[in-house]
Amino acid sequence: MNDARKEVKTTCPYCGVGCGVIATVGEDGAFSVRGDPDHPANFGRLCSKGSALAETIGPEGRLLEPEVMGERTDWDTALSFVADRFSETIAEHGPDSVAFYVSGQLLTEDYYVANKLMKGFIGSANIDTNSRLCMASSVAGHRRAFGSDTVPGTYEDLELADLVVIVGSNMAWCHPVLYQRLAAAKQARPGTRVVLVDPRRTMTADIADLHLPLKPDSDIALFNGLLRFLAAPEGSKSDTAGRPAPVDADYVASHTEGFDEALEAALAYDMARVSRETGLDEAQLAEFYELFAGTEKVVTLYSQGVNQSVVGTDKVNAILNCHLATGRIGKAGSGPFSLTGQPNAMGGREVGGLANMLAAHMAIENPQHRQIVQEFWGSPTVATTPGKKAVDLFTAIEAGDIKAVWVMATNPVDSMPDADGVARALAACPLVVVSDVVAENDTLPFAHVRLPAAAWAEKDGTVTNSERRISRQRKVLSLPGKARHDWWIVCEVARRMGFADAFAYAGPHEIFAEHAAISSYRNDGSRAFDIGAHAAVDRSAYDGLAPFQWPQPVGKLEKTTRFFARGGFFHPDGRARLVPVTSRSGPEACRDFPFTLNTGRVRDHWHTMTRTGLSPRLSSHLGEPFAELHPADALDLGVADADLVEIASPYGSVIVRALVTGRQQQGSVFVPMHWTGQFAARARVDTLVPPRTDPHSGQPASKNIAVHVSRF
Ligand code: SF4
Repeated sequence: MNDARKEVKTTCPYCGVGCGVIATVGEDGAFSVRGDPDHPANFGRLCSKGSALAETIGPEGRLLEPEVMGERTDWDTALSFVADRFSETIAEHGPDSVAFYVSGQLLTEDYYVANKLMKGFIGSANIDTNSRLCMASSVAGHRRAFGSDTVPGTYEDLELADLVVIVGSNMAWCHPVLYQRLAAAKQARPGTRVVLVDPRRTMTADIADLHLPLKPDSDIALFNGLLRFLAAPEGSKSDTAGRPAPVDADYVASHTEGFDEALEAALAYDMARVSRETGLDEAQLAEFYELFAGTEKVVTLYSQGVNQSVVGTDKVNAILNCHLATGRIGKAGSGPFSLTGQPNAMGGREVGGLANMLAAHMAIENPQHRQIVQEFWGSPTVATTPGKKAVDLFTAIEAGDIKAVWVMATNPVDSMPDADGVARALAACPLVVVSDVVAENDTLPFAHVRLPAAAWAEKDGTVTNSERRISRQRKVLSLPGKARHDWWIVCEVARRMGFADAFAYAGPHEIFAEHAAISSYRNDGSRAFDIGAHAAVDRSAYDGLAPFQWPQPVGKLEKTTRFFARGGFFHPDGRARLVPVTSRSGPEACRDFPFTLNTGRVRDHWHTMTRTGLSPRLSSHLGEPFAELHPADALDLGVADADLVEIASPYGSVIVRALVTGRQQQGSVFVPMHWTGQFAARARVDTLVPPRTDPHSGQPASKNIAVHVSRF
């Protein structure tokens, strides 16, 4: 399996920080990793997961041969079976009767060809991704405010800021290297202030000067109250202290629309109302508001606590409103910053791998964009309306509207809301194809066709991290067994469906070059995503590609590191939109389901543990699933630490061990998302999560779920 001794620069396949990794294969075949000191995301740092990569690359548990209807077979048979069955289904029931459900674990090149096949050649937009579960609300919020899905800032801004507000993110565990960078910056400049906005007192609170343990989903009230305060800072010392005026009237007048409307909505949020809705006392609120109002260099980081909500998009816009109103955007040390969960959630957005997007961040609802994409691809068609977003996609499968689905590099029977409903849907689907690295997970038993895919250390391609930085992931090891690259598998199916010319790539470098070319094709600067400078990349240039931040358009010498400091938004009038938002109450906690469940990550595991579960070292941190309960709730329930508790919602139930801790707020319970049926028989927490989604983004609410808790 091992090539000759070598050292390869690649990237970590876990979180959206996108750390550079140097992988080494010794002469004895020993595989090791260390942080890449030259990579601008991590400068040599790695967290526990990245450091343990060498322990997760072995051949054990791998899917190594294609299988059709339970029988091992050769690639030609398997690919022809998939292509024929998809073609027959489309011929009989139309393009929208098939779907792809893909993954933020795919590389950009894999994602690009899957999206191209579905949207341009099959003619449906039924391709959605597990990234829908992590950042779709940020995408929708960005598009509403900026006219494009553009992260304005860079990681360096965290180190340059005087105030960092972390909203709904346990960075210390979920984006550990970025947290380390922030901690180091705070140590170097002790005047830097950090505010954590999170219902739980997570490990991230250790760095916070102020922790605001607000009620789940009450962020809109908090940030509307802030906008009101910024505009009319009664009680604020900002003016008398000579600090900057909070609202930047020039910026608002020159570069935005909607300030008055957003403020009008916010004016209803006086301190008393914000206090009532958030559960925070007025002194805490005033401290936060004063700090924000009086600090020019503010970065607001937000992640799944904001996004995974039925009001996720409105929460994002409530945050963006405050930055737009103060002009604190796109400047060194200043701006809103969405932290993406997965290693290539951003790359998926770039290729349009979401049911409501087109390639190169173009919009499916825009006829000119559709024409550009179809013309560039020379495709017979292009999808004209959005396809089914993740939750709706599986609902459509269960209803029989989608009759063939191809799941790539993800495990929806564990990770989707109403996970048992997803299992029912797949059981009823006439054709389920699964491409994966592993031979066993909770989704594979439903597959009629199993296709062995390449794993992290075997792949060549690119990923984009949270700060728009595109980095190469490079092959270190040979493909084991009959495993093949995801892009190759998709292209071979496309070829057998009659689209050979459009999918004839000699390697991922040609796919990347095409991706770069479409980003600049007929792009007069009105589209933010432009990496046309790489459209002529050949194999050698691709192999040597150094990490870079987009945009990199053809021939533009001035480097754009940040967006929007001087306006330049991507709405047709070039102006941003402040969006009026109002709070809505969360789930109907009731007598039967009186607790609020929040789900999330732990430090040392990733997703459904197909990789990190292979490392005993990683499992030694937290070896089994658990439910964090407040001591007062535990007392009421007669539950002691380490007792088994049953948590139930109308959709399912889990049995896990109680972890009684004051870090958890009373009335709420936290259960990690990682443990699957494979690792713990009754701990699939997504069986509890209802298929409720944000109306703008389609992102499911994986937090703030009404549940019942009892001693088991
Ligand atoms: Fe990998 Fe994220 Fe850890 Fe970096 S911070 S090593 S990208 S898991």
